[in-house]
Amino acid sequence: MYRSFFENNFDALILTNDDGDIFAANKAACRLFKSTEKQIIAKGRSGVVDMSDPRLQSVLKKRAEDGLVKERIRLKRGDNSTFEGEITTTFFTDDNGHKRTLITVRDVSGQFENEQQLKASKRQNEILISNLPGMVYRCLFDKKWTFIYVSEGSKLITGYSPEYFLENPDVSYAKLILQKYRNEIWDKWNTVVKQKSTFEAEYQITDSKGQVKWVWERGRPVFDSHGKLDYLEGYIEDITERKRTERDLIKFTRAVEQNMSSIVLTDINGNIEYANKAFFGMTGFNRTEAVGQNMRLLKSGLVAAGVYKDMWGTIMNGKTWRGELINKKKNGELFWVNKAISPILDSRGKISNFVSVAENITERKKAEEELIEAKERAEEVDRLKTAFLANMSHELRTPLNAVIGFSELIDEQMSKEQILEFSRTINQSGNHLLEIVEQIFDVSLLETGNLSVSFSDIDLVSLFGVLAQEVKKKQVKHDKENLSVDVKMPEGVQKFVIHTDRRRLMQVLLNLLDNAIKFTGKGSLQYGFKPENDKVLFWVKDTGIGISEEKQRMIFQMFNQVEQSYTRETGGIGIGLTVSQKLIELLGGKMWMESKMGQGSTFYFTVPQKEGA
Ligand code: ADP
Repeated sequence: MYRSFFENNFDALILTNDDGDIFAANKAACRLFKSTEKQIIAKGRSGVVDMSDPRLQSVLKKRAEDGLVKERIRLKRGDNSTFEGEITTTFFTDDNGHKRTLITVRDVSGQFENEQQLKASKRQNEILISNLPGMVYRCLFDKKWTFIYVSEGSKLITGYSPEYFLENPDVSYAKLILQKYRNEIWDKWNTVVKQKSTFEAEYQITDSKGQVKWVWERGRPVFDSHGKLDYLEGYIEDITERKRTERDLIKFTRAVEQNMSSIVLTDINGNIEYANKAFFGMTGFNRTEAVGQNMRLLKSGLVAAGVYKDMWGTIMNGKTWRGELINKKKNGELFWVNKAISPILDSRGKISNFVSVAENITERKKAEEELIEAKERAEEVDRLKTAFLANMSHELRTPLNAVIGFSELIDEQMSKEQILEFSRTINQSGNHLLEIVEQIFDVSLLETGNLSVSFSDIDLVSLFGVLAQEVKKKQVKHDKENLSVDVKMPEGVQKFVIHTDRRRLMQVLLNLLDNAIKFTGKGSLQYGFKPENDKVLFWVKDTGIGISEEKQRMIFQMFNQVEQSYTRETGGIGIGLTVSQKLIELLGGKMWMESKMGQGSTFYFTVPQKEGA
């Protein structure tokens, strides 16, 4: 019965002694060791046990001491392959009084492998968890967030080791959380548990050293099979550095975005990647129009190619280029900028971008140009004034010399006729002097803005009657009686009344006519007036020497006459036309001229019919 029980047992059974001899092996044992009973018996212990297993000695020792063992050991099959086995031994003494051992052998390699795998994966998880930058936790859903488990990472983040947490109930995680976040987090977790969703939050904690840190947490509630909440688990990471970078980034972005200077970031080809508000304000382009476009967008075409060459050469060399450029806005308007372009290097020292900072200096440039112009003008006027003074002293001296010279010549021996002629000459020279003095007086009044005009109703027909007599006198004076003179007035008009300054109008007309007579050798003279809208147009036309185009440009300017004054035969100090034009402007009109060299000149001017029209 025992024999049958032994033979047919499902467990592998081996009958052996302390020396390692084997006396019997059942069928299951033969299957397990892949050998016949004979082979097993022949080889003994070394046939079925992997003798190199370090556990063997302690197993044998234990067995010798206790008799009963249940141990793991590596076993060997007939084909020399090994497997993890579990042996259970019992003792009995046979009929002959020999100590015998009955060993039950089980193949536990499957179980063993599972265990190994489990251990490996546990180890893996542990490594993973301990290598995480943050801390993994499992905690109760209580207001203290009592940890059931917390990983090593807690030391880095909170300054407390996991043990410290678990052993000291006073050091709750909740206490580390900054007061202002505590309720918010509690409420959030409540919702998450209710909705069985995921918790995620960024908040601040104080670590064991009292340092405030930013952390990011992500967690979830874990429920048992009945849907009851077991615990919460999740992960907490230190994001202080990230937050600082974020804050810095926001600060820098604002500093750039709100900068008064235009700031543009381009790639190495000059394609715009970013531009701040000031850039859009300055150029008129908006973000969508500018970003992605090349900086060429602003080219005015007025900058010399060499400037761009120098610019690219400098920045591609890793240096900053500075300069002034004229650029073009979206609407075509030109503007000046003071620009600085610097390369931005990547971590390997290669140019990755360019940053261009620009200031609109159009106003400054304009002011500069105006200043230069004003300076040049002032210098020109100064030059002209000096020459004018020299000329004027000459002009004054000529009639004055006549007055002094002729008056000295007069004595008692002179005939009445001679005295009369001399005094006529003295009178003429005196009048000429007076004319010059009056002109100078007008100029000084005009210069200081003190020349005033007095308006009254005047009849142009009668004024032109007086004018005709004056023209005759001037012809005589300048020896030009042969000139034919033609006067044009609106036809059939007996009277033409306008409201203006009679004396000044007369002065201007006389000045123009004087010039026309002076500068016309032979030929004709025409002057007249006609109404034009609410104004009256006057003109004085001659067929004289004409005025060169170059001279026309400056004829109305003060002291224009200076240059040729010494060479010309005709008198005059070169301010008649200037004074005339200014006077006409004071009367509310305009003066201009047309002329061709050698063919003659026409001077035009308008005067309002009524004051202020
Ligand atoms: P001036 O007192 O020297 O006549 P004006 O201002 O009246 O000063 O004239 C300036 C200059 O312009 C003259 O000296 C002359 O060279 C030129 N000019 C003026 N009117 C005429 C004209 N009708 N024909 C040719 N040249 C003229």
